[in-house]
Amino acid sequence: MLNIVLFGPPGAGKGTQSELIVKQYGLLHLSTGDLFRKHLGAGTDLGKLAQGYMDQGNLVPDAVVIKMVEDRIATESTAKGFIFDGFPRTVHQALALDQMLLKHDLLITGMLSLEVEASELRIRLRERGKTSGRKDDQDDIKIENRIKVYNEETKPVADYYKHQDKYVSIKGMGSIAAIFQLITHELDAFK
Ligand code: AMP
Repeated sequence: MLNIVLFGPPGAGKGTQSELIVKQYGLLHLSTGDLFRKHLGAGTDLGKLAQGYMDQGNLVPDAVVIKMVEDRIATESTAKGFIFDGFPRTVHQALALDQMLLKHDLLITGMLSLEVEASELRIRLRERGKTSGRKDDQDDIKIENRIKVYNEETKPVADYYKHQDKYVSIKGMGSIAAIFQLITHELDAFK
């Protein structure tokens, strides 16, 4: 069983690579951003609560995200494992993830961290904003805030997995296929 944290700044390609990983390895994709967007679209209380944070490019409070992931893990049974995308985004979330997995006798196998230069992230996010309909991709101030929030609040999560000897760096620049090849190389080594 593989339980993978796919890590990296906004625009690093986590969603794109997750889709390919799901196809090849049959893992269950758990993207907190996608879950929030679904709630937002459905107009649930959770969606309404998250909207203000998401629109500004700020993090939704830990307790809210953790509860949503916990519910998801409890209702999803997977033989092959999970791919966590956009979660954990704080050290507090990383600790909570370990604790909730333990309840199901599960562990994180490893973290794959997509490394992409900030200038490239800005280009990719603006490009995605043209077609994604995502407000947070369409505004330079929001993009800058998301990169800032990543650097200040999310980057330390990498150290959490480094300390557990579970951190793997992946060069996230280049073609989608070339990056996926690097990822498969690491995933096959985990097995
Ligand atoms: P993403 O699709 O991963 O870029 O997430 C879009 C937005 O959803 C983020 O900018 C946050 O506002 C919110 N979000 C997603 N995942 C998390 C998380 N793990 N912790 C806090 N907020 C999150």
